Amino acid sequence: MTRSSKASKDAVHYTIRPADLALHLFEVTLTIASPDPEGQVVSLPAWIPGSYMIREFARNIVQIRAECDGRKVKLTKLDKHSWRAARCDGALVLHYQVYAWDLSVRAAHLDQTHGFFNGTSTFLQVHGKEALPHVVEILPPDDIDGTGAYANWRVATSLRELKARRHRFGSYIADNYDELIDHPVEMGEFELIRFDAHGVPHEMAITGRAPNLDTARLAADLKRICEQQIALFEPATKRAPMERYVFLTMVVGDGYGGLEHRASTALICSRNDLPVKDPPAMSEGYRSFLGLCSHEYFHTWNVKRIKPAVFAPYDLSKENHTPLLWLFEGFTSYYDDLVLVRAGLIDEKTYLGMLAKTLNGVLRGSGRLKQSVADSSFDAWTKYYRQDENAPNAVVSYYTKGSLVALLLDLTIRAGSKGKRSLDDVMRALWRRYGRDFYAASGTARGAHDKRAGRGVTEAEVEALFEEISGLPLKSLLDRAVRGTKDLPLAEAFEKLAVAMTPVTKPAKPSLEVRTRKEGSACKLASVHEGGSAHHAGLSAGDVLVAIDGLRVTASNLDALLSRYRVGDTVSVHAFRRDELMQFSVSLRADSARQYAIEARDKPIAGARLRKAWLKVRG
Ligand code: ZN
Repeated sequence: MTRSSKASKDAVHYTIRPADLALHLFEVTLTIASPDPEGQVVSLPAWIPGSYMIREFARNIVQIRAECDGRKVKLTKLDKHSWRAARCDGALVLHYQVYAWDLSVRAAHLDQTHGFFNGTSTFLQVHGKEALPHVVEILPPDDIDGTGAYANWRVATSLRELKARRHRFGSYIADNYDELIDHPVEMGEFELIRFDAHGVPHEMAITGRAPNLDTARLAADLKRICEQQIALFEPATKRAPMERYVFLTMVVGDGYGGLEHRASTALICSRNDLPVKDPPAMSEGYRSFLGLCSHEYFHTWNVKRIKPAVFAPYDLSKENHTPLLWLFEGFTSYYDDLVLVRAGLIDEKTYLGMLAKTLNGVLRGSGRLKQSVADSSFDAWTKYYRQDENAPNAVVSYYTKGSLVALLLDLTIRAGSKGKRSLDDVMRALWRRYGRDFYAASGTARGAHDKRAGRGVTEAEVEALFEEISGLPLKSLLDRAVRGTKDLPLAEAFEKLAVAMTPVTKPAKPSLEVRTRKEGSACKLASVHEGGSAHHAGLSAGDVLVAIDGLRVTASNLDALLSRYRVGDTVSVHAFRRDELMQFSVSLRADSARQYAIEARDKPIAGARLRKAWLKVRG
């Protein structure tokens, strides 16, 4: 069947139009040619895959009505995100408006500068018709004032064109609903950067102001990242799992985030993180932007195609709990920076410094001693994604600790197999068994409603695969790393690759061991770390510091004030809790968090050789 003939009469049809830019409204028309004779049910997802939190997108539907052959049809609300249309003998047409004013990668945003939407925010799911082709006609804003202000707007998306030229308004098609909502759409006057990665066309559409952007450098660096990853999963064929790939990038004054999709990603980044022409050396901001691109691109394999069993298919109406986010987010976090060093974009010293920063960050929170990464994964919906002031003392990140689990396993497998095997082999085996062989390499992973769709992978299967591929007994290490809360034995693992992980001896400076937040000119405690001076004295998150020994504390002078004291001194701290002034006697302790430096060594020579193979550095 050819692609255009697939857009049959049975297809589910949508049109979407930026109807009111100032009121931030998209107008959507949904046409169902042969609705359910018992009354068609439609619903909007409660969450967007990749962001594990209930967001209840249906709350942004402003008005909804239905008609059948021009006659009004009754819509009955069934729950917070579902409706049933009364019986209709002809085609059922729904009209609704979506309020789009969330400048993030997770929902939809519309104003005079651009439009962006995810299908999870805009396209109602037609129950019982999910496996049909879904066609969407994307329309430009009306030229209401006749100024032609939007005449240069274009469209960027990885959706396949049906009757549209590339980057133009017109109709696009997805094989099914699952695919439809996995291609976000950007419209506006964006800058377009193009490059090939192992023969597959890639592009980055950049929306927002970024003067003097070094597009050539961005294209060259992204190409190296993408090619490195394609070769990691398919070293022999260098075959990417999609036909084309699109990075949708929104540039703002201050922002950072990304969301993965099967053939694209939506990113939000800070203007200052993007490279300008005549660049100095790699900046920290640009490095973190490339790390973000690398992270979302790695998800093309790890979570979009290799996925946890409970995601095959997704249940978009409620939480989908999995204990495996340490694999899908943690391992992706491990590879995102590793790919930068392997691609030659950063050097070994920088990379090891970044690992130290991750490790030290994990060691700072006592939550790591209470929650395993498996539990953190399972409870992502209510804990990791909904962090409050107590999070450092209660929650461990399956991103950062998950990346350390990946590091530990990689180092252990490399040392234990004398360099014959690595985590790369495990990822490739995961890809072959649970990813590639279930999907056509057409860029459109078969949808969740297709019987041939991947069935996903279970925790037991993943862990068995580690032992099978590495040939090493890893069960007890995995138990400790994944389900345990003890710190990981990383120093020993590093040693075998001639890497020293040594405690940093800091001058014993007094510390409150708190995180603070600037509130106007005041200094507010954002969180109080368990076991620190502030905790022992009874200070609490939310307290606003007023004075230390009678001297005023501001948002910017806390460290300077504390630096006049020695560890062991006792100070009087005044703070407001709500509107009540309270006094605390604080016995100043040194910062108790253990911190490490991670550095390469020349010896043992066999270890240094393993390290060079790991990071693919020469010399
Ligand atoms: Zn991720």
